Amino acid sequence: MAKIDTISREMVTFARGIFGDDFIPLHQPIFEGNERDYLIDCIDSNFVSSVGQKVTEFEDKVAEFLGSKYAIATVNGTSALHVAIELAGVRPGDEVISQALTFIATCNAINYAGANPVFIDVDLDTMGLSPKALQNYLNKNAEKRIDGTFNKISGKKISGCVPMHTFGFSCRIKEIAEICKNWDIALIEDAAESLGSYVGNQHTGTFALLGTLSFNGNKVITTGGGGMIVTDNTDLAKRAKHITTTAKIPHAYDFIHDAIGYNYRLPNLNAALGCAQMELLEDFLTVKSDLANQWKSFFSDRDVIFVESIDNNKVNHWLNTIILDSKQDRDEFLKFTNENNVMTRPIWTLMSRLPMFKDCLTDGLENSLWLEDRVVNIPSSVPPGSLKK
Ligand SMILES: *Cc1c(COP(=O)(O)O)cnc(C)c1O
Repeated sequence: MAKIDTISREMVTFARGIFGDDFIPLHQPIFEGNERDYLIDCIDSNFVSSVGQKVTEFEDKVAEFLGSKYAIATVNGTSALHVAIELAGVRPGDEVISQALTFIATCNAINYAGANPVFIDVDLDTMGLSPKALQNYLNKNAEKRIDGTFNKISGKKISGCVPMHTFGFSCRIKEIAEICKNWDIALIEDAAESLGSYVGNQHTGTFALLGTLSFNGNKVITTGGGGMIVTDNTDLAKRAKHITTTAKIPHAYDFIHDAIGYNYRLPNLNAALGCAQMELLEDFLTVKSDLANQWKSFFSDRDVIFVESIDNNKVNHWLNTIILDSKQDRDEFLKFTNENNVMTRPIWTLMSRLPMFKDCLTDGLENSLWLEDRVVNIPSSVPPGSLKK
C-alpha cells in the first residue's frame, strides 16, 4: 500500500474535484424538490403539529417503497426502536442481543425498554451482526425452556435480537431470522441507515417482526428528525400507532387513555419534508451509487479496502466506507483530512467500552474490535449540481 500520507493528500484533492472548495461534510441533506411547497401547505392549512394529512401520506409512501404492509411515523428513529422493542414482547429485566458496533441509539432503545443488551460480534464483510457468532453464543450459553430462551450465565430471558445494517450494507438478516425463529427470540431490525438497501429483492427492515427507520438530518432522506416503524402485522401496527400517540381512545371530546403511551407522533411539518424527500429518493440513490463508484476506483488504485455489499445486494451507499491497515494509519488519515476541511469519521467506539454498557455480556467481539480501529467513513453527500432537474 502507498504510504498513508500520500493517500490522505490525494484523497483530499479527489474530494475537492467532486465537492468543490468549501468545507466538505460527511453527509448533508439536499432539498431540491417540493419541500418548500409542502411546508407552506402545512402552514397555510394550520396543521403543523400532531394532526394532519402529510403524516398519513408519508407513512403510505414509505410502506409502499419498502413493500411493507404498514408504516407508523415517529419523532425519531430512537423512539421507533424503543416502541418496536416493547411491542416485540421484550420486558424489563430481559436480555436483548445486539451489536457492540453500532450507533448509541440501538443500545439506548434496548435500555429504555428496561432490557440489558448482550453484545455479539459482527461479520468482517458486512459490519453487521454475525449469524455464526449468534449461533455459537446461543449454542454455548442459552437454554430453551417452555417460556422462552434463557441465558445460562445471567439466568435472564433472551427475548429480543436487534441487528443493524451498518452504513446501509445489509447484514446476513435471513440467516439471523432463521436462528431467532429456532430459538424463539423476537427479531427487530434496525434499518435506520439502510433506506434503499435490499437483500435480493426484499428491502431491509422487512425481514423481522418489526423494523425501524430514521430520518435524522444525516440520513439518506431527512424530515429534520423522524423515524418509522414498519411491520406486516396488523395488530402490531395498530398498537404501534396507539402507543406512539399517548394511547388515547378516539373520542369526539373525552380524554380516555388505556395504557402508558408515548408522545412519539411525527409532526405534520416534518412529515411534509418527508413526502418531498421520498419523491427524490430514487434520484438520490442513483447519484450516490455513481459517487460510490468514483470512490471505489480511486481507492482500488491505492490498494485500500473499499467496503462493498455482499452477494451483489443493492446498497444505498449512505456512507462510503474504507478500511485502513492499522489504527495508526487511520489516525493519520483522520487528522490530515479533517484539518483540510474534508470531513471523515472513524466508526463508533464499541458500545461495550462505554461506561453505561461496560458490564454487559459479550462474546469477545473479535471482529468488532478489529474494525473499530480501522474503519473510516468518507464524504458521501449527493454532490452539488448532480441531481437532474
Ligand atoms: C440514526 C440511527 C438511529 C436512529 O437515530 P435518531 O437520530 O433517533 O433518528 C438508530 N440506529 C442507528 C444505527 C442509527 O444510525
